[in-house]
Amino acid sequence: MDDELKSVIRGIALLNASEHDGKTRNDSIISKVIGIKPELRSRIKDVIPLILQAVDDVNKLSVESQKEELARKYAELLIVKPKQERIGLPPLEGAEQGNVITRFPPEPNGYPHIGHAKASIIDEEYAKMYGGKLILRFDDTNPEKERLEYYAAIKVGLDWLGVKYDLVKNTSDDMEIIYKKAKELIDLGDAYVCTCNKDTISKNRREMLPCKCRAGNLDQNNTRWNKMFDKFKPGEAIVRFRGDMSSENTVMRDPTLLRIIDEPHPIHRDKYRVWPNYDFAVAIEDSIDGITHAFRTKEYELRTELYYALLDKLNMRKPKMLEFSRLEFEGMPVSKRVLKPLVEEGKVSGFDDPRLPTLEGLRRRGIVPEAIRKFVLSLGFTKSDTMPPFETLESINRTIIDPKSVRLFIVFNPVKLTVTNNNLTEIEISNHPQNDMGKRRVEIDGSFYIPDNDAKTLKTGDEIRLLELYNIRITKMSPEIEGEITDTSYKPNIPKIQWISRKNPVNMEVLMSDVLFVNDQFNENSLQIKQAITEQYYLELNVGAEIQFVRFGYCRKDSANQAIYTHK
Ligand code: ATP
Ligand code: MG
Repeated sequence: MDDELKSVIRGIALLNASEHDGKTRNDSIISKVIGIKPELRSRIKDVIPLILQAVDDVNKLSVESQKEELARKYAELLIVKPKQERIGLPPLEGAEQGNVITRFPPEPNGYPHIGHAKASIIDEEYAKMYGGKLILRFDDTNPEKERLEYYAAIKVGLDWLGVKYDLVKNTSDDMEIIYKKAKELIDLGDAYVCTCNKDTISKNRREMLPCKCRAGNLDQNNTRWNKMFDKFKPGEAIVRFRGDMSSENTVMRDPTLLRIIDEPHPIHRDKYRVWPNYDFAVAIEDSIDGITHAFRTKEYELRTELYYALLDKLNMRKPKMLEFSRLEFEGMPVSKRVLKPLVEEGKVSGFDDPRLPTLEGLRRRGIVPEAIRKFVLSLGFTKSDTMPPFETLESINRTIIDPKSVRLFIVFNPVKLTVTNNNLTEIEISNHPQNDMGKRRVEIDGSFYIPDNDAKTLKTGDEIRLLELYNIRITKMSPEIEGEITDTSYKPNIPKIQWISRKNPVNMEVLMSDVLFVNDQFNENSLQIKQAITEQYYLELNVGAEIQFVRFGYCRKDSANQAIYTHK
């Protein structure tokens, strides 16, 4: 142990010397050694003399001998690691310290997903970066699709993610202001009420032609506006912005600002029937909420011209609108259009199905919030639409959960193995190889289960190690496998196999998720349920515990007898 440690220290000292004209220093080495081997922190008193000695020795060498030894013995230290992606976001255009207000504006029409995580985390990080505020604003002006359940689900999701907002509000609480602004646009001649049917409107938009409503005078518009609140039926009249019917940007061809919807609203029931659409609501709300920087996904880019045009006409303060790319994973759709039918048709068990990229789904799968945040920030504020591989999120997750995951044994397709000369009745196994996560006692009597996969490779005379226990030699393969203890010493080249004591196996199942869609086809094998046996200690773990099943992978305990596979 000490020799290995001395060698590590010498390598670090040599490297440090080579970076500093041949001279290294105690203090730089101490922090580097602890960085590489954090478990030495508690033994630092023993380690320091070794460091002092190494620094002394290395400083006595010529620069050439330092380089030579470094290259010969510590080549791995010389490999230049690829520059780490900058974790964090670039500075925000025009941002002033203390004066930044961002918002996360979900529509309460579904469960939050990884895309919402990206948006809300970026909103929050920028607010934090500039000592500003984040507003959670429910953009709830389409009662056809919105439900109270979703307002709650979004809050639960943000709480779980650890996204903290300073204020929460609903766009629907500002309906009087929105009506006032609509009326103002009508009075200014910048909006009109159109009673053409849908097809005519689309056709005119395509052909860049105005309709006769566009030419209507103020009286006509005011009368029609008033009639939208009682006389007109849904679809019979809409308020349109007087944009530019010949604009290259189709969004500007007299877009809809308000429409009639008779469905009761989840909060206001039937108090309102004239509802602003997305473009109108978001411009007014962002402006009156004091938002300085508003972000949305790139597919809205063309709408930004309209956003500024509306605020211009209304002479209202303009936030800065910026776009980033949508986040989704290959084969794991986030769009409500795709997700809802999957749930409704029973193809997945619910919005928390572990195959889904919803926050609930990811949580059940064992992805932790910290990993999501790191992952989102590692992608940065990008506009490019490349889909990051799900494995990137998994590998970030792995480094976070590894130190907290209990190590346990699991056996699939159990096969009996009897150790004929066993004389132990109980052993103690550490729950984690490095960290202090306690120990568990396992009762044994020489009768075990081992995985069929391993059993298949064995023959009489082979030596194997039963992990944490002893080495045995196989004495018999049929009718059942038998073995005899040889010794307990560590032998590098024999198979090391996990086992479950036959005294008290625990039956369980493991859910394994695969991508939902392959080439746009629903993957019928996207969920596998594997039967397994595990240790008694599994029963003592809380639901939600992260476990590393040795030689299998990380899983999250989802219920008493079920675990969900997280990743390798
Ligand atoms: P959907 O297609 O599911 O309806 P949406 O964009 O309409 O998506 P909202 O609930 O309105 O969903 O979105 C709230 C915020 O989250 C918006 O600012 C939106 O830009 C952002 N957002 C939604 N989906 C994603 C995504 N996949 N990646 C990044 N941001 C997203
Ligand atoms: Mg939406």
